[in-house]
Amino acid sequence: MKIFISADMEGVTGISRWEDVRVGSDTYQRSAERMSQELLAACEGASEAGAEEILIRDGHGSARNINPMIFPANVTIFEGWGGHPYSMLEGIDNTFNAVFYLGYHSPAGTDANPLAHTISSKKICQIKVNNLLVSEFYLNQLIALSEGVPSAFLSGDQGICNEARRIYPEIVTVAAMEGSGYASRIFSAEKTLASIRTGAQKAVEQLTHIHLPALPDRFEVDVEYLYHFDAYNASFYPGVQKVSAKSVHFESQTVLDLMTTLKFII
Ligand SMILES: [Zn+2]
Repeated sequence: MKIFISADMEGVTGISRWEDVRVGSDTYQRSAERMSQELLAACEGASEAGAEEILIRDGHGSARNINPMIFPANVTIFEGWGGHPYSMLEGIDNTFNAVFYLGYHSPAGTDANPLAHTISSKKICQIKVNNLLVSEFYLNQLIALSEGVPSAFLSGDQGICNEARRIYPEIVTVAAMEGSGYASRIFSAEKTLASIRTGAQKAVEQLTHIHLPALPDRFEVDVEYLYHFDAYNASFYPGVQKVSAKSVHFESQTVLDLMTTLKFII
């Protein structure tokens, strides 16, 4: 039994400002430690239910946020950006039994987290795939699906928990925080860690009951930028057309092609 964990930071409990997630700020170390503690709780729960190998992919910022010293022997941490278009899911393949998402957040174009964004908070207004406004979770579960691996657990803000359950009715979710304008309700760290531990355990135990949703056979992608010059720049990538001052459109037949184009135009 092998579990892949994709880790982000903007949905970890106790985080409500951009400075909280940026290296060098007064609160960054605290955020990184909380992120590590939530990941450890997920590893403990999954291992309790029989996970033999766990790969944690650090998917935030420098991708070097996790304290590797606190994890048990069956956990490997994949840090830094290798350059593969799978990005926050770099390292996934069909030998894994499930993907977990921790510290995940609501997408750009929604209001459930003061730090709501998709891939780049500095560039992206919103991304739509087949006319659906999508999150990093949506894109990453497509990657997992294309490798035949179910998405079984997610923790993060309340908004992304709701979205995850709309796509995967059987996914186990744990809300660590709830956004309200430019504020957040921070749920108890003690309660969140306990819920992640028991939720991860339950997710592994019920894996055999998870249904894989159908993978779309083509992707019509609309990217709206915050600034017109980013749309202009993106429009020179092969297959990408500028459709308005701030937006571009492209089509992909495969998830790898979709993620490759996004990697180069964001
Ligand atoms: Zn992040």
